Amino acid sequence: MNSELKVFKFGGASLKDTASFLNVANILKTQTPDVVVLSASGKITDKLESLIQAYHKKSIEQQDIWHDIKSYHIALAASLLDQTDEVFDVINDLFVEIDWVLDEEPGADFNYCYDQIIGIGELLSTRIMHALLLKLNMKAVWIDARDIITTDDNYREGWVFWNETDVKCKKVIEPHIANGSLVIIPGFIGSTIDNNTVSLGREGSDYSAAILSHCLNAHSLTIWKDVAGVYNADPRFFTDAVLLPVISYQEAIEMTYYGAKVIHLKTIKPLKAKNIPLKVKSFIQPELEGTFFGGIEKVNYPPIIIKESNQILLTIEPKDYSFIAEKDLSFIFNVFHEIGFQVNFMQNTGLHLCICGSCPFFDANQLEQILQPNFAVSIQNNCNLMTIRHYTNELKIKMMENVQVLVIGDVNGTFQMIYMDIAK
Ligand code: ADP
Ligand code: ASP
Ligand code: MG
Repeated sequence: MNSELKVFKFGGASLKDTASFLNVANILKTQTPDVVVLSASGKITDKLESLIQAYHKKSIEQQDIWHDIKSYHIALAASLLDQTDEVFDVINDLFVEIDWVLDEEPGADFNYCYDQIIGIGELLSTRIMHALLLKLNMKAVWIDARDIITTDDNYREGWVFWNETDVKCKKVIEPHIANGSLVIIPGFIGSTIDNNTVSLGREGSDYSAAILSHCLNAHSLTIWKDVAGVYNADPRFFTDAVLLPVISYQEAIEMTYYGAKVIHLKTIKPLKAKNIPLKVKSFIQPELEGTFFGGIEKVNYPPIIIKESNQILLTIEPKDYSFIAEKDLSFIFNVFHEIGFQVNFMQNTGLHLCICGSCPFFDANQLEQILQPNFAVSIQNNCNLMTIRHYTNELKIKMMENVQVLVIGDVNGTFQMIYMDIAK
């Protein structure tokens, strides 16, 4: 463990406008981390996804969306920096790279094309922050994540090559840290061996920060959010949610597995492997303690509620009434893997397999055709999945009131319910 090395990560909400950039710069100045990973500003990644969709559909909206994204960044940079700042040329070069992509015919491999565009948000936000820190007389260096994080070519969810990434981290980043520079790195992206940009999955900047913390043997990783820490339920929807001061790695893995949106699913594993503590703190009130994640043995947790919307409930039945066997399951799960269906719940009986999950990149309604002729498939869209860890019976009953419950499950003290909201 590198005795003092601190890694910070800031997400889009903390970088949405001029005041937010200045606030982050101030936290960096006062708290002196060694490495900082940034997401794209505000909701830019959503806008870039719309751009990519428009490009692929050859829709005329493409021009307006791209124009908005460029204007937003130019206005942001202009509000923070002098007109003569060299970073305006860098920003312009980044725009030209995307112009070139957009001038080409969209290729057949959608995921590859997506990844060649989507990471521009992180490249721009980090370049602007780097220029701002230099203007504030801080010693800072910008490093391209694609020169460090190396992955396979599974576009839109690159799998990390740990040895290569580890070597590059030590070779490229450590000398700058030793030299007293703050290292600024774009989150969310890496690169294949052939130098193609690969994204790590939506919300993947948390994971980027965990990868770098792991390879640099960091002393701690702090993820800065618009909330005071991690609560037992999303405070945006549950007004009586309570802050959890400490969470074990195991509980964090369970929470993120069931869909807790506050940290990316893959973040904990690389930290746990080296016992690196994770803190989640508020960028609005940095003086608060926040939540500490680590190798803690016994914690008495209150019930922890995780709600996922826009879920698809699939009921799969073999047409010949044979039992669903390992062979069938392996066929079905292989299809899920191919189309990127993310399973959040499953239950099976002799004749039914009930699956709940989401399918962000593929129209799940087409599953019926794919799984024919052997299976009958029924599909219900727009479901919710609620998971309650450490539940009490009172809470379980309360949550089942006023909703249409479709399926329930209960494994090892974790209650799950798939339901539809009742229209009021
Ligand atoms: P960023 O991408 O800026 O890092 P996110 O928007 O991904 O941040 O995460 C912060 C949001 O996560 C909060 O605004 C909050 O609504 C939501 N959230 C969901 N579950 C929880 C939870 N258990 N505790 C705290 N925040 C949560
Ligand atoms: N900007 C990317 C996203 O919105 C990655 C991240 O913010 O973590 O998904
Ligand atoms: Mg996020």
